[in-house]
Amino acid sequence: MDLYEHQARQLFEEHGILVPRAEVADSPAAARDIARRLGGRVVVKAQVRTGGRGKAGGVRLAEDPAAAERTARRILGMDIKGHPVRSVMLAEPVDIESEFYVSYVLDRAAGHFLAIASAEGGTEIEEVAANRPESVARIPVDPAEGVTPAKADEIVRAAGLPPRTADILIRLWRVLTREDALLVEVNPLVRTTRGQLVALDGKVTLDDNARFRQTRWGDDGDSHDDPLEASAAAKGLNYVKLDGEVGVIGNGAGLVMATLDVVAGCGARPADFLDIGGGASARVMSDGLSVVLSDPDVRSVLVNVFGGITACDAVADGIVRALDAVAPTKPIVVRLDGNNAVRGRAVLDHRAHPLVRQATTMDDAARLAARLADTS
Ligand code: GDP
Ligand code: MN
Repeated sequence: MDLYEHQARQLFEEHGILVPRAEVADSPAAARDIARRLGGRVVVKAQVRTGGRGKAGGVRLAEDPAAAERTARRILGMDIKGHPVRSVMLAEPVDIESEFYVSYVLDRAAGHFLAIASAEGGTEIEEVAANRPESVARIPVDPAEGVTPAKADEIVRAAGLPPRTADILIRLWRVLTREDALLVEVNPLVRTTRGQLVALDGKVTLDDNARFRQTRWGDDGDSHDDPLEASAAAKGLNYVKLDGEVGVIGNGAGLVMATLDVVAGCGARPADFLDIGGGASARVMSDGLSVVLSDPDVRSVLVNVFGGITACDAVADGIVRALDAVAPTKPIVVRLDGNNAVRGRAVLDHRAHPLVRQATTMDDAARLAARLADTS
């Protein structure tokens, strides 16, 4: 889950990184009051979980509280890359001397973190990296060792940052590890005309596996980029959107991952990963099927259930319930095996829905689903 800038700012502050004085408002009137408290002149910043707000007109200077109110009214009505602006942050303006870029990102393939840093911050780092790759330092960080003073110095030297940035790099690493983040980015980190180093913007992505202990941030329903993932999360489903055309539903992460491979082996591409879990109920199956069927990319659905704790007849009941609730227009291939498979198959036979086909093995089911996705 991505945090809002004001939340990232709060974490930076808690870990001793200098940030501008700021407060959040959800109405123009509140923005005016905050601007008055902050001394009149403020930067009004859209709070959305996406970057490039500046370019989109979501970051503007206001000269006095009345201007802050007008500007907030304008920004609060905006939609930035599909994210409606529900609040703005009012920040004391900072006089910038230079802008830098620093971040830690997880390099999954390499199994370590990367410190990415550049003395050319402010603009989009992708642009700098594309045009002047030599000005972006990429230094591996061993997660077990972390950012030691020596490592921080190495990053500072490689990127040509002011030496005092080393202290900020060490604190940012603490933000990453102690707050369960997978990404921490400051763009820009600025040196003010008074010589202070200030984090002017912040992006923090939390590890969703740590949500159970990172409860203080809540979830306003805007934390999933994909609308299908958002609706699945709202139903408590373990769903990941993929970019193929065969919808995949199974019980148990291992079986679902194996099913993705088998679908790929049949020359088709999975449209999602959906694990209905062990002991799945009819309701979970029905919710899951509704989400997968509502995916416009899906051309056929493969339900692959090996009943252990999960009883196949409950899964079949869920399928029948979903068929009645969503009136599918796409073929569904079901493979039920294991606990109560005979009863489960009988439930589906009895319902005899024209779009539901049963297969007895995983391979047969995947082949059929792949073929139906190709011709449907
Ligand atoms: P982003 O566009 O979503 O990355 O939003 P930022 O918070 O990074 O703001 C965009 C740009 O606005 C920054 O790169 C700065 O150049 C500028 N900016 C933001 N706050 C201030 C400020 O307090 N003073 C000045 N001079 N510029 C600012
Ligand atoms: Mn920025």
